Amino acid sequence: MNFVKEHRVKPGEKLKLKSLDTKTKGPFEDKEAAKQHTAKMVRQIQDLQYKMFVEDKQSLLVVLQAPDAAGKDGLIRKVLGQMNPQGCRTYPFKVPSKKELGHDFLWRIHKCTPEKGMVSIFNRSHYEDVLVVRVEDIVPKSVWSKRFEVINHFEQGLALAGTTILKIYLHISPEEQLERFKKRYDNPEKHWKLNPGDYTARSKWDAYREAYQEAFERCSTDAAPWFVIPADHKWYRDASVASIVAQTLSEMNPQMPKPDVDLAEIKALYEAELAKQQT
Ligand code: ATP
Ligand code: MG
Repeated sequence: MNFVKEHRVKPGEKLKLKSLDTKTKGPFEDKEAAKQHTAKMVRQIQDLQYKMFVEDKQSLLVVLQAPDAAGKDGLIRKVLGQMNPQGCRTYPFKVPSKKELGHDFLWRIHKCTPEKGMVSIFNRSHYEDVLVVRVEDIVPKSVWSKRFEVINHFEQGLALAGTTILKIYLHISPEEQLERFKKRYDNPEKHWKLNPGDYTARSKWDAYREAYQEAFERCSTDAAPWFVIPADHKWYRDASVASIVAQTLSEMNPQMPKPDVDLAEIKALYEAELAKQQT
């Protein structure tokens, strides 16, 4: 199955999130089969990331957005965080600080984009500035509605500079979210995650859905596509995102640089050392 084709939002496409399945099992017979597939994809990602790091010519940005408890953390832990930390950094974007609010909304974001050879993972992103900001009426419509275009230009600029961009939305059902909130409540190890704010956002589910739909329609571009991932099954979420990242890295086709040293000379140096050691 081609997960990129399956889940990519075409530029201008008017998605109806409500009618998109959250429980897909895709081509997987069961959880075990999906986990095996994920493990295989993670190995490919690691291999390709290593090449991209050494090549030092292009970079990858993965943007994650989702309702609370949809599994951004789990996805990072199990898939994206499996990359070599030397070449990969994760940035969580929380409520902006006073200083951040003193700048334009992309200021704090731009600093975290990946330089050549590197991967950046955004746990939330500049899209909060057309999502929570819109739903909670933090800035007027006249301000947030102009941001779609600003975002598209920003992302096109990154793409021109050699950054490949993937934007991933984890699509869970409200029923599954409530189930996960309960599991957090039932498990003392997860009590630190409890947050009444999660219930506030949940009560505005329809408004968030509308905001997400407009963001996908206006900002899924060839340079920076959105992917909507059915995420009620954690194993499908991991397997499909791992496949999309592996396919994308593979299409970036990173090449190991040719050695700029004379291999015959290095071999002679080594043999001379070996001979010295043996006498
Ligand atoms: P978890 O899944 O562990 O709860 P989280 O990403 O939800 O992780 P939190 O600290 O719970 O992390 O929440 C961060 C909050 O910051 C979110 O409610 C998000 O909407 C909010 N936020 C992020 N960016 C902005 C922004 N630009 N303006 C206003 N709020 C923002
Ligand atoms: Mg939260």
